[in-house]
Amino acid sequence: MYSGGFYPFKTPEERWAWWSRMILLNRYTRAPKPVYEALLRLVEGREYFVLTTNVDHQFQLAGFDKARLFYTQGDYGLFQCSRPCCQKTWDNEEAVRKMAAEQRVMKIPAELVPRCPVCGRPMTMNLRCDDRFVEGEGWHQAAARYEAFLQRQQGRRVLFLELGVGMNTPVIIKYPFWRMTAQNPSAAYACINQGSAWAPREIAERSICINGDIGDLLAQCGAPASD
Ligand SMILES: [Zn+2]
Repeated sequence: MYSGGFYPFKTPEERWAWWSRMILLNRYTRAPKPVYEALLRLVEGREYFVLTTNVDHQFQLAGFDKARLFYTQGDYGLFQCSRPCCQKTWDNEEAVRKMAAEQRVMKIPAELVPRCPVCGRPMTMNLRCDDRFVEGEGWHQAAARYEAFLQRQQGRRVLFLELGVGMNTPVIIKYPFWRMTAQNPSAAYACINQGSAWAPREIAERSICINGDIGDLLAQCGAPASD
């Protein structure tokens, strides 16, 4: 599905038929396993903050407080102008559901192709894939909240819990977590990753690296079930 986002569809009607189904499934449908819910039970009542490169917003669907989330790479649930002519984003749920419902033979009706309300150019998803990514008002507010959270935690006992971060964009979560752990002697670093759970020598004594499935491990954490 991720690769499909880069496919050169021949027409906008085909492109949006594919994208609307992709967004409906990944952004507006809850994930099939209770991994996010298990994580929420672990952090609820604590001073936590979520930094994510995921754009499916499953954290929000699972009930995480939106004010404690920073989705650095965008949101499948937002449109932006493809140029972009302005630094605005628009909620797309209604448009996406309509495109998914009204498509026939892998095409949406031409009149449903979304256009920028400001300049009339085609819309695109608010995803960081090139330098046209719009950092809208919500993005900036979330960035500021994350920054303020980090300021408050300086020198305090902090767990930098890294879940499923690979080497695609390590500069966003992994490297900063290593650096902040190194800079704060009271901090610890924990990493759960299937296949590449490790930490640099400098923070090894304060690191916990677990090679495994996040869902399996969280289920074993002994977090009391909510029901
Ligand atoms: Zn525009």
